[in-house]
Amino acid sequence: MPDSVLSALPYNVEKSELMMPFWEGLNSKKFKTTKCEKCATIHFPPSPTLCPHCFGMSMRWIELPLSGKVQTFTHVTAPPEGFTGDYVLASVIVDVLNKPILARFVGDGLQIDDIVSIDFEDVAGQSLIIFKKA
Ligand SMILES: [Zn+2]
Repeated sequence: MPDSVLSALPYNVEKSELMMPFWEGLNSKKFKTTKCEKCATIHFPPSPTLCPHCFGMSMRWIELPLSGKVQTFTHVTAPPEGFTGDYVLASVIVDVLNKPILARFVGDGLQIDDIVSIDFEDVAGQSLIIFKKA
């Protein structure tokens, strides 16, 4: 399995000012999202201005733990445009967030219910999330 399957982002990522804590967090090896000050709901993707649960408008950025449990995964052997080589795409229930996120798994022998850690890889100056065996 290759260490990296991306040498450049295959699409334009629009980084609005409101989402910069997320993008800058990744570059600092932190996985950040928003939490509502009114109802305490944690959102992902981040919702920096409005709580979709209670419509509260007082949000703050929090750091998520860098671990989770594998819900399912697939071995991608026909990579989409911009990716090179095959890779494993995993759906992982992130601790605290209690919902899955998708990212590439780097390593061997992945099984459902494995505990994985969230790590980061640099792709053209932007860190992105990857999973590794904990
Ligand atoms: Zn709320």
